[in-house]
Parts: sequence; C-alpha cells; structure tokens
Amino acid sequence: MAAAAKKTVCKVDPVLCTGCGACAEACPMHILLVRDGLSAMTKSRLCLECGSCVRACPQHAIAVSTGDGADADDGQPAEAADAPVIFTHVLDAVMAIAAEELSPRQVFSYNGMDVSDLNVIEADDAQGFARCYTADKLLKMYQSRFTFFDQMSVDVFGLVPAPEYDLPIFMFDWSESSDSIFYICDFYPTEDPGRNQNYLARYLYEPLDELYQRSSTIPGLRPIPLHWVRSLNSPYMITGNIEKNPRENIGRLFNSTIDYLRAWIGLWKKAVPCDLQSRHMQLVTERRRVFRDLYLENDPGIGTINKFIGEEKGDRVLKLIIPE
Ligand code: SF4
Ligand code: SF4
Repeated sequence: MAAAAKKTVCKVDPVLCTGCGACAEACPMHILLVRDGLSAMTKSRLCLECGSCVRACPQHAIAVSTGDGADADDGQPAEAADAPVIFTHVLDAVMAIAAEELSPRQVFSYNGMDVSDLNVIEADDAQGFARCYTADKLLKMYQSRFTFFDQMSVDVFGLVPAPEYDLPIFMFDWSESSDSIFYICDFYPTEDPGRNQNYLARYLYEPLDELYQRSSTIPGLRPIPLHWVRSLNSPYMITGNIEKNPRENIGRLFNSTIDYLRAWIGLWKKAVPCDLQSRHMQLVTERRRVFRDLYLENDPGIGTINKFIGEEKGDRVLKLIIPE
C-alpha cells in the first residue's frame, strides 16, 4: 500500500520577516506568497520540505517541518500548475552510456541491506526508485529518480570507485520543477587536490579543464552560496540554478553532463588498483569516509524523501545513493 505523505507545518516569524520574497522565489512548488508584507504558505500538501525557502531566507524567519498541527495553508489558491511537467531526464541518457561502457549488474542487497523494494517505489503523490549496481573497478553505481505531484523531479546518479582505486567520485543531481533546474555535476576528488598536485593534474585538470570552462559559463546558471565550501574541495564541480528558458541553455547543461561522464569513463578505463596500505591510499580512504559521513548527516534532500516514503525506507534510499 502506498505511504501517505505527512502534514507540513510552516512558521514565519512576523518580527523577522521583511516580506522580501526570496523564499517564494526559491520554492520549486510555487506555494509561498508574500501578502501584507509577510510570507505565507498556500498549499502545505504540496510542500516537499526541501528547505529551499529556509536556506534562501536572509532573516532566518521561516521554518518548515513535519507536524501534527493544522495545515499551513492560508486559503489562497496555489500557483502550481495542474498539468504534469515534462521533465528533461538526463538520467536516461547517462544510464544508457553507463550500461554500454561499464556493463553494470543490478544488485538487490547492499552492505547487508535488502534494497529490492526500492526498485520501484509508489507513494501518495510520489513515485520513484533507488537502484544500485556493481561493475568492474566500482564499489557501486547508483541511480535514483523521485517525482512529486508530477511537478518536481529529482534525478541522482553516481559512480563510486572500489576501495583500491583512487579515482574521483562521479555524481550528478538534476532537480527539475516547472520553470527551473537545480544542478550539480562533479568529479569529487578522493585525495586532497591542494596537497597532491599530481592528483590534481591527472584526475581533474587534464580531463576537465576545457570542459569546465565551457560548462561553468552556461548563460543563466546562477551559483548557489550553500555550495561554496564544497567547491573549495572540488574545484571542477559545476553547480547552480538555471531557468528552463531559453531551452538551448538546458541543452548545454545536458551536454556538459554527458561530457563529464565520458571524461570519467576515460579515466576508469585506464585505472589500475593501488596499494591500500600506502600513505596515499590511507588518505584516500579517510577522505572518502569523511565525505560519506558528511553526506549522511547533511543531505538536504532526505527531508523530502522521508516525508513521502517514511523514515525507514528513506534511510535505506539515502545509504544506497550516497557517494562514499
Ligand atoms: S520547503 Fe520547499 S516546497 Fe516547501 S515551501 Fe519551502 S521551498 Fe517550497
Ligand atoms: S525570505 Fe524570509 S524575510 Fe523574505 S519573505 Fe521569505 S520569510 Fe520573509
């Protein structure tokens, strides 16, 4: 039986709120309005609990959480369109290339966890999947898609090297609403590229520098302040929000993803195992552990997943689709 989404409670501090509208602009579901100088939620049922409004608020005036209280609606009609959004789904193209190049095999158990029920997930107002694969030289390949109310879609994909390989971790996140896309595409370095210049040159600068110059300057791609710390660690990460019009910019983003993926596969083909006891690999192992723990504790998407499919399943989805 499909799990029912829990109720959302939105609280706006009337003293702190200046009515600037930054929260409404950031909301992918278009359910926040500024009325009489204050932000208000119009349709709490459509809230993804994604936290975008909270992060966008310069005043720390808005809070959104699952609760047992009354609906947060203010009785105004939501602006969210009823017609299903047509999503770009770059994930399908990425999976086709990965299937051809890496010959992955899907697994239904990961780290002792049964994940067979995540192959297809149906919930009230949400559908999706989280799938894991093995392949030569990989700890795992993962892909996941969740669609909420047919208005918002979140695609993630990752290629995580086996422990004895020091390759970067390839990942992308493509979160699409009716009018905009939040995007991350990354080669996350498993060694500190500031400390190890050879690593920087071999795994980042040489395969990516030209691609990065093209991709990071796509018109309309606005950087997200939240990601500035991670970009210090991963100098070739492309990230930002972009409007879906004009469409040619989305096409460029699509092509950037494919270019990065092919660059990573080029490195994967040449990769050879390293000595896990070496100082270099000890640093790699430790950095990967820290990265995984940070992700487990801070992934901003987990609130949304938990709201729709429940915490137990949401916890397994997160463990399956984190880079580590
Ligand atoms: S949590 Fe997300 S969906 Fe809900 S109001 Fe805030 S931005 Fe909109
Ligand atoms: S971003 Fe913050 S201060 Fe601005 S309208 Fe929204 S809640 Fe109010």
